[in-house]
Amino acid sequence: MYWQLEIHHIDVGRGDATLFVVNGRQNSTGTWTRKKAVLLDCGYGWATLGCVIPYLKKQNIKELDLLIFSHAHGDHCGGYAKLSEFVTSSTGKLGNESTCNKLDGFKLPQVDEDILGFNESSAPKMYCVSNELPDMLDEDAKLNNDQENRSSLAFVILFAGYRYYTAGDLDGDTEVKLSDHIEKDHGEVHFYKVAHHGSKNSSSDKFLETMKPRYAFISCGDDGTTKQHDHPTQSCLDRLWAPKNHVQQTFMTSCSLLSDHVQSNPEKYQKGKMIISGGLGTTKNAMVKGHIALCIDSTWGNNQTVIVGYYDNARKKNVYLKRWFK
Ligand SMILES: [Zn+2]
Repeated sequence: MYWQLEIHHIDVGRGDATLFVVNGRQNSTGTWTRKKAVLLDCGYGWATLGCVIPYLKKQNIKELDLLIFSHAHGDHCGGYAKLSEFVTSSTGKLGNESTCNKLDGFKLPQVDEDILGFNESSAPKMYCVSNELPDMLDEDAKLNNDQENRSSLAFVILFAGYRYYTAGDLDGDTEVKLSDHIEKDHGEVHFYKVAHHGSKNSSSDKFLETMKPRYAFISCGDDGTTKQHDHPTQSCLDRLWAPKNHVQQTFMTSCSLLSDHVQSNPEKYQKGKMIISGGLGTTKNAMVKGHIALCIDSTWGNNQTVIVGYYDNARKKNVYLKRWFK
């Protein structure tokens, strides 16, 4: 079997929604068949309705095999009730401790178990890597709202020699503690879904040094109200872009707040170090346009090519970049 993994970072403004699609085919020229569709987080209710559901329909997905909520905050699971047409009795549901307490049918992921569950060794594997987190929480964090962010589920996906890492809204010390475990068990990562929308405490130098991500993906934007948030923060972008770190390119979902960053870093923006899918509009205007897709295909063989797709607002079309690693 040949395998293909698509990772779609859906533009949901301030929030997260990532769709993982695994396809398989019998020979290198056969037809791809979808083997699994997994949704990790769905954004606020308005974003689930306006962004996630149209996106799932566009991908011709009628039912989710697995629905995962990284943690129980509204910008990650607020639209759960609106997803009902995609959630059936056979849809698996995974969440962190508080999600399991609040929502029926949700379970904690099993430790060291590949949650995609394909038998073939060449198929993509997905592991929850945050199982030790409850013990790692700082005592003072347990008393405040940071606790929920710090109990975000984190996952590593392994496929075709690549490693992708995503961790909800983890930040600060917790992320650093976790990175030592991940590096030891799985090695450095190629693709990093930036934790906590690029908050000031996420993606510390220590974390980036240990994990050495090459490509970063940030889900950021407005939250559909007049409330302003500063995600991604300039300090997080500065760390991602620091020459001593290894990030070659940063992809972001469309975000009105980014204008400041672009103005203060025109060179990085123009050189393509920072790519904003869907442009600098608000999510409301750029709905379903600011997505960023990553595709890895085992048929492509040993040249280790991956494709990153985004929406180029200036050219009004999707652009696909070939990227590879030695
Ligand atoms: Zn969040």
